[in-house]
Amino acid sequence: MPLYQSAIDAMDAGIVLWDAGDCMVLCNRQFRTLYAALADLLEPGVSFEALLRAAVARGLIPGAQGQAEEFVAARLHEHRHPQGPLLRSMPDKRWRRITEQRLDDGSLLAFSIDVTELIEKERALEVARAEAQRAREQLQDAIDALPEGFALYDAEDRLVACNAHYRDLYAMSAPAMRPGTSFETILRYGLARGQYPAAEEDQEAWLRERLYRHRHPDQPLLQELPGNRWLRIDERRTRQGGVAGVRTDVTELVQREQQLRQLNQRLSESRAQLHALIGTAQAAILTVDEQGLIRSANPATGRVFGWDPDDLEGRPLAELVPDVDIGAAADATEGGLPPVDLPARHRNGGMLTVNLALSRLSLPGPAQYVALITDVTERVVAARALRAANEQLAHWSETDALTGIANRRLFERRLREEWQRCAQRGDWLALLIVDVDHFKRYNDALGHPAGDTCLAAVAAVLRDCASRAGDLVARWGGEEFAVLLPGVNPDEALAVARTGLAAVAARGWVHPDSTVAPHVTVSIGVAAGMAAADQPVESLVARADAALYAAKRAGRNCARLAQSP
Ligand code: GH3
Ligand code: MG
Ligand code: MG
Repeated sequence: MPLYQSAIDAMDAGIVLWDAGDCMVLCNRQFRTLYAALADLLEPGVSFEALLRAAVARGLIPGAQGQAEEFVAARLHEHRHPQGPLLRSMPDKRWRRITEQRLDDGSLLAFSIDVTELIEKERALEVARAEAQRAREQLQDAIDALPEGFALYDAEDRLVACNAHYRDLYAMSAPAMRPGTSFETILRYGLARGQYPAAEEDQEAWLRERLYRHRHPDQPLLQELPGNRWLRIDERRTRQGGVAGVRTDVTELVQREQQLRQLNQRLSESRAQLHALIGTAQAAILTVDEQGLIRSANPATGRVFGWDPDDLEGRPLAELVPDVDIGAAADATEGGLPPVDLPARHRNGGMLTVNLALSRLSLPGPAQYVALITDVTERVVAARALRAANEQLAHWSETDALTGIANRRLFERRLREEWQRCAQRGDWLALLIVDVDHFKRYNDALGHPAGDTCLAAVAAVLRDCASRAGDLVARWGGEEFAVLLPGVNPDEALAVARTGLAAVAARGWVHPDSTVAPHVTVSIGVAAGMAAADQPVESLVARADAALYAAKRAGRNCARLAQSP
């Protein structure tokens, strides 16, 4: 065997040399192995076409099945004008690469290399690649299906994948969320667009903190988004050193918590206000249970009743306000008892007057009523004094200051009233007008103060003479008096007048300058009439006046009865 034959047999590739007429010059052992099915034909001199046709006929070329002629023609053409390496699958499921090269003398050298393993590796790689792609798609589907926002960053903090929720939650940053973009870039993109309200004060500080927490995930974070929306961020390191993060929208939760906080805040404010109000109130405010026992008392209670408010707890309210009626408050339909003035007891034993209102509470707990108590002692005392002063005033306004008997104003009012009353009864009304005789002289002789004393004394005498219930003696003016006698007829009236005359005379008050007697005397005009509602009472007065005039003319110190009208 020639040396070159041994050399080419040692080569891994199948080698075959064709002459310019396309007949085989030689081939190596590897070639024979590759085309073992054509071993009987592989002798120098066999034509390429003969071998090709034999290979097709023996089914060695799967691609030629059903189109043998077309295949043979195309292959022959290729063989004559080789272009580049050909890849062929063989029936033994192996792949060969055939490289044909025309030499200068027109002969053709062909290498056939078994590339099955290479092809299989490539195939496996492709399958692996497709599987990886499918896995990626499945992962994407899975994270898209998550109800939360999800994002995965690699060890260099570049975005690997995120789901639609993640983009929706960070709508302002979403355009920057391309795989490969760094977390910081995405944050900065969002920062510039107001994605993070908490960052407004100091963006750089916020960014530093956020990046640190991202790289060192520990506790879940609460993050605010525009529009008072809130996320909870749970980040974990992956085994590859990346960070997987889940964002849960906790807006409702946080808002409810905020509302609760506000509510609590307002509640404690109103409670503080209420406490301040109760603490500084001037009125005593107590809570009382069903049995009427005090459950709490404000500082004013202490001031009003002289107790330390704490010591009042458990004592009956009745100890302070004996007449309080808890039972009545329980029965009241209006939700309690309206304010009422009641006597109350101070701790030092003193008595007070308080105004107490009792309202039923509709609250849980032992306290069933709230008592609002104000000390009205001063008001009550002042009212009493005012009433007394008014009564005094009324008395004075109808009393003659000198004599202490009724004045003319009261007399005229009573005169009219009695006139009406007697008219209704169909009864007599009698009137006496009494005038002191020569009183001017009395004054002149004894002095005005003595005159005053005399007038008071005459008044007292007349009052003694007309002292039945309903009788009224008044000062008519100057030294004149009037006596009203309801139910008294003319004769009886004249009798009363004579009694008066006698009583005055009997006193024997010295009158040094009287022409009538050495003592004080009076003259009396008497009129009595059946009262009639349609007649004026003035006629009675006029008749009494006329009778007095008659008594004066008759010499004084006497009584005259007026003529019947
Ligand atoms: P007659 O008998 O005619 O009634 O004579 P008279 O002097 O009493 O009558 P006159 O009307 O002339 O005088 C009444 C006198 O009464 C005059 C007045 O000084 C006196 N007088 C009136 N009011 C008071 C008074 O309040 N005190 C004193 N001391 N004198 C009074
Ligand atoms: Mg007179
Ligand atoms: Mg007189």
